[in-house]
Amino acid sequence: MKSFINLLWEAVSRGEHIFMGSQPAGRRWIVPPSQGNVLALAPHPDDPDAVAVSLRLFHSAGCRIRYAVTGRAHGGVTDKYAHEMARKLGDLPKDLQDYKSAIRRREQVASAEMAGIVDGEVVFVEAAAEDESGDMLHSLANARLVRNLLREQDPDIVLMPFGADTNTGHVALFKLLGDVAQPFAVERQRPLLALFARDPKTTSIEQQLVVPFDGDAARWKASLLRCHDSQMQRGIEVRGHGLDERILKLNRSIQTELQSSVIEPWRDECLYAESFQLELFG
Ligand SMILES: [Zn+2]
Repeated sequence: MKSFINLLWEAVSRGEHIFMGSQPAGRRWIVPPSQGNVLALAPHPDDPDAVAVSLRLFHSAGCRIRYAVTGRAHGGVTDKYAHEMARKLGDLPKDLQDYKSAIRRREQVASAEMAGIVDGEVVFVEAAAEDESGDMLHSLANARLVRNLLREQDPDIVLMPFGADTNTGHVALFKLLGDVAQPFAVERQRPLLALFARDPKTTSIEQQLVVPFDGDAARWKASLLRCHDSQMQRGIEVRGHGLDERILKLNRSIQTELQSSVIEPWRDECLYAESFQLELFG
């Protein structure tokens, strides 16, 4: 893990794009580490699935994968969806927000089960303070929760959405990690590498680590994203397409944008890519 982090950090410090994947290695490919703790730190339940191919790559290489979700994220479920679900299941929700939050948790547990790469149960962190959508707020008490989570999970690598984003939940968790990551890494005397993912709502990012993937991986990823049915339905209502299409469209455009800097033969096999801006703490 140490050499992976050092190699990667040196390369991105030189301003290079680095590629990681299961295709034959090329000049700028890095092999994922064969052990270590990888944590998907998720402001919303569907965020780990937006970087599922990268997580699976770490898992296949031998790393331990954990998911931690910090937002109740009830704001992502429409009233109509929640009422229809309650009718279908014969539930009588006492509190509609709690009911919506439970829907999102169930969806994430189902998708994590389907992915089959997560070690143990998905961790749901109860925020000390959250906004009206159920997103963790940037506060001192929440920073303490994130610090405790890092101590419990002891990750070498965290993956989460980048902070230059129009989504306030993404921004808040990015700031919270920024508050606690450096002292955490110093305290345990081991670095922490953050992989900040490009999301459809990211406004600007340096794509330093790129994980290209093929159609088979895209289909697998889409099947995970479809577990988030409340988000699928909302996407179809609001945007005319579901979450699976939205994320894969982004992954397709990342690959297209980076096409010119990709020289290895896998370019034609991998039409999609996840991408990350990196930060090394400690
Ligand atoms: Zn999100």
